[in-house]
Amino acid sequence: MSDSTTYDVIVIGGGPAGYPCAIRAGQNGLKAACIDEWKNYDGTHAFGGTCLNAGCIPSKALLESTELYHRAQAEFGAHGIKVGGLEFDLGTMQKRKSKIVKASTQGIQALFKAAGVTGLPGHGRLLAGNKVEYTALDGTKRELAARHVVLASGSAPMELKSVPFDGKAVVDSWGALEFDAVPKRLGVIGAGVIGLELGSVWRRLGAEVVVLEALEQFLWMADQQVAREALKHFRKQGLDIRLGAKVGGAKQGKTGVTLEYADASGTQTVTVDKVVVAIGRRPFTTDLLGEGTGVELDERGFVKVDHECRTAAPDVWAVGDVVRGPMLAHKGKEEGVMVGDLIAGRVSEVNYKAIPSVIYTAPEIAWVGLTEEEVKKSGRPYKVGSFPFLASGRARAMEATAGFAKLIAAADDDEILGVHIVGPMAGELIAEAVLALEYSASAEDLQRTMHAHPTLSEALHEAALGADKRAIDFPNR
Ligand code: FAD
Ligand code: NAD
Repeated sequence: MSDSTTYDVIVIGGGPAGYPCAIRAGQNGLKAACIDEWKNYDGTHAFGGTCLNAGCIPSKALLESTELYHRAQAEFGAHGIKVGGLEFDLGTMQKRKSKIVKASTQGIQALFKAAGVTGLPGHGRLLAGNKVEYTALDGTKRELAARHVVLASGSAPMELKSVPFDGKAVVDSWGALEFDAVPKRLGVIGAGVIGLELGSVWRRLGAEVVVLEALEQFLWMADQQVAREALKHFRKQGLDIRLGAKVGGAKQGKTGVTLEYADASGTQTVTVDKVVVAIGRRPFTTDLLGEGTGVELDERGFVKVDHECRTAAPDVWAVGDVVRGPMLAHKGKEEGVMVGDLIAGRVSEVNYKAIPSVIYTAPEIAWVGLTEEEVKKSGRPYKVGSFPFLASGRARAMEATAGFAKLIAAADDDEILGVHIVGPMAGELIAEAVLALEYSASAEDLQRTMHAHPTLSEALHEAALGADKRAIDFPNR
C-alpha cells in the first residue's frame, strides 16, 4: 500500500545519530519522520538505538552504581567514614538502570512531538527513487515517499567465529549489561572500550575478571603514556589483563567455558563462567537497501559518504556508526544535526578533528586531537606539558589522585594539537580542551584563561603552563 504523504525527510534508524537528525529537520520546518525497529529483550519497542537501550546509558548507570560501591569499600575509610555491613543488591542496581533507560527513551517521543516529527516504529528499507518501504510492528507494509532519506541504521557487535555467541555463557555487551548474578569468573575478549568498562563493572562487584587482548599494545588508539598509566591502575584493581593473547577457541564443559589462546609463551587456557566478546562493532545494513538505490558500501560494509555525509545516491545521506569514523554517539549526533541543517539549506559541518573520546573507567580516560605518537610521526616540532592529579588540591581532597593531564602543542605556532587526561572526571574535563581545539586555541590561550581554585580543571591549566615550563604548582622539567 502506498501512502500519499510526501515527507521532506525520512530517517531510517532512531539512535543518537538518527533521532537528532529528525528533530533538527523538524526544527527547520521540514516534514520529518523517523523509522526505528529497536526491540528490547521484553519485546517492547523503544527509540534511542544502541546508545540509550543497550550502550552508553545502561553501561554508565551500572558504572556509577558499582563505582559508588567500590568507593564505599575502598576509599571511605580514608575519609574517616566507617561502613559496617556494606552490601549490594544487584536486582536494585539493574532496576535502577532500567528506569534510567526507560526515562531516556521515552523522552525521545516527547522531543519528536515538540519538533513535529512523526515517529514510526518498525522497519525501513530504502527503495530506488527515494521511496521507503515501511513495515510497521504489526507487519503491515506501506510505501512512503521522501525528498531526502537519511540512513542511520547503526552497528552490531562483531562475532568471533571461534567463540560464537550463545546468549547464555557467551554474550555480547548487551548480554553483559543484563547479568542477573555476578559471575564468579568472567572472561572478556577484547581490552577495548567495552571490555574495560564492563570488565570494571563486574570486577567491582567481585568477579574474577580475565581480559584477553590480541594486541601486544594496550589501548593502541590512546596516547601511550596515558595507556601505560591506566593499565597500571586497572591491574591494581584486579583486572587480569593479558596482552598479546590470541583466542583460538572455546569449549563448554561442566566447570565452565574454557578459552584457549596463544601468547608469546605458547598455548594457554583459562576457564571462566561467562564470556563477553567485545572485539569491536560492524556497520548494520541488513535489509536496509532494496534494488537499484545507488547507495554504495565500502569493503568493510560501511555506507560510503563524503565529508557532508552524502551517499553515492542523490538526496540519500548516511550518519552515525553505519559510516566511517569513530563509533561514538556524539559523533553520530553531530552528523545527524549537520544533515538536518544541510537538507534545510543551512550551512553546517562536523569538525572531525575535534571528536572527544572517553572511557568511563576509574580513573577515567579522555582525549581529543592527536596523541604524542601521532604528532611525533607527523614530524612537526612540539612541546608537552603535564600535571599529575597528585599535585591537585581538589584531587587530594577528593582522595582521587591517580593520573595526570597532558597537553601537546606545536613548538612553532603554539597551536594545541592534543589533550590527554587520565584521572578523576576526565570525561568532563575534556570539554574545555574540545572547545580549545574547536577555536584553534594556543597553549597560551589556555594559560591566560583563569581556572577556579580548587578544581580539577586547574590540572589542564597547569599542563598548558607546563608546555612552556611555566607551571606554578608542579616543578617544570
Ligand atoms: P544505533 O544507536 O545503533 O541506532 C541505530 C538504530 O537503527 C537502532 O535502533 C536500530 O534498531 C535501528 N535500525 C537499524 N536498521 C533499521 C531499519 N532498516 N529500519 C528501522 N530501524 C533500523 N558511545 C559513546 O559516545 N559513549 C559511550 O559511553 C558509549 N558507550 C557504549 C557502550 C556500549 C556497551 C556500546 C555497545 C556502545 C557504546 N557507545 C558509546 C557507542 C554508541 O552506542 C554508538 O556509537 C551509537 O549508538 C551509534 O548511534 P547510531 O544512531 O549510529 O546507531
Ligand atoms: P574496540 O574497538 O574499542 O576494542 C576491541 C578490542 O578487541 C581491540 O583492542 C582489539 O584489538 C581487540 N580484539 C579484536 N579481535 C580480538 C580477538 N580475536 N581476540 C582478542 N582481542 C581482540 O571495540 P569495543 O570495545 O567492542 O567497542 C565497540 C565500539 O563501541 C567502539 O568503537 C567504541 O568506540 C564504542 N564504545 C564507546 C564507548 C565510550 O565512548 N565510552 C563505550 C563502549 C563502546
